[in-house]
Amino acid sequence: MSIADNIKRVQDRIDDACAKANRDPFEIILVAVSKQKSVDDIVSAVEAGIQHIGENRVEEGAGKIAPVQARLQDPLTWHMVGHVQSRKAKQVIQHFDMVQSVDSLRLAKRFSRLAGESDRRLAALLEINVSGEASKQGFAGYNWYQEASVKERLWNELGELLQLPHLDIHGLMTMAPFNAEAGTIRRVFADLVALRDELQHSLGVSLPELSMGMTDDFELAIAEGSTMIRVGRAIFGDRN
Ligand SMILES: *Cc1c(COP(=O)(O)O)cnc(C)c1O
Repeated sequence: MSIADNIKRVQDRIDDACAKANRDPFEIILVAVSKQKSVDDIVSAVEAGIQHIGENRVEEGAGKIAPVQARLQDPLTWHMVGHVQSRKAKQVIQHFDMVQSVDSLRLAKRFSRLAGESDRRLAALLEINVSGEASKQGFAGYNWYQEASVKERLWNELGELLQLPHLDIHGLMTMAPFNAEAGTIRRVFADLVALRDELQHSLGVSLPELSMGMTDDFELAIAEGSTMIRVGRAIFGDRN
């Protein structure tokens, strides 16, 4: 299967999931996650219609942006989707259009300060660890609606974060557990949507984007209200 064929299949899956959920496929942004994949592969994906590219490592991603853009007419939108170490925050600001993986108040403050120094604003999503797995990054959000201490901490941290002057927070991002049952995965996505709704309501902010859903679970995410799916293997094939 070529990358173009794969993208057609992914688009068909998006269309089917949207039809079932009574949603418009144009509401869903498809971010092709090209980690470990070549510049040629990314260009092939763009030729087949992709406009958003995600990378999970700062240096690897930053190194591909210039050679990909040199072969294209129009700028793509580049998303950083992996954990960012604070010493690499500056590179993210220099190279990427959006960071989806703001996972601590400390990192957010650093991004805001560095963006201000570069005279720009940084588009960002806040990564929430809704599943509660220790292996996952993000603000602790497991059981946020039942655990008063979890909610209080989230509200304190996110309340402060949302005031930072040089960040534009567009919404939330999460990752579902791997190899879990569909019901468990849906619950994680539904919890993120409920958190977004409650934050909007109580803090008076607008958080329209919900980045959730990957190769194995994006239909479930679309059913729950995802606006952005991050798809790697279904587009580029398996990774090492
Ligand atoms: C790799 C990655 C994806 C894509 O995963 P696939 O299972 O290959 O679709 C999505 N989001 C993040 C944060 C990733 O690191």
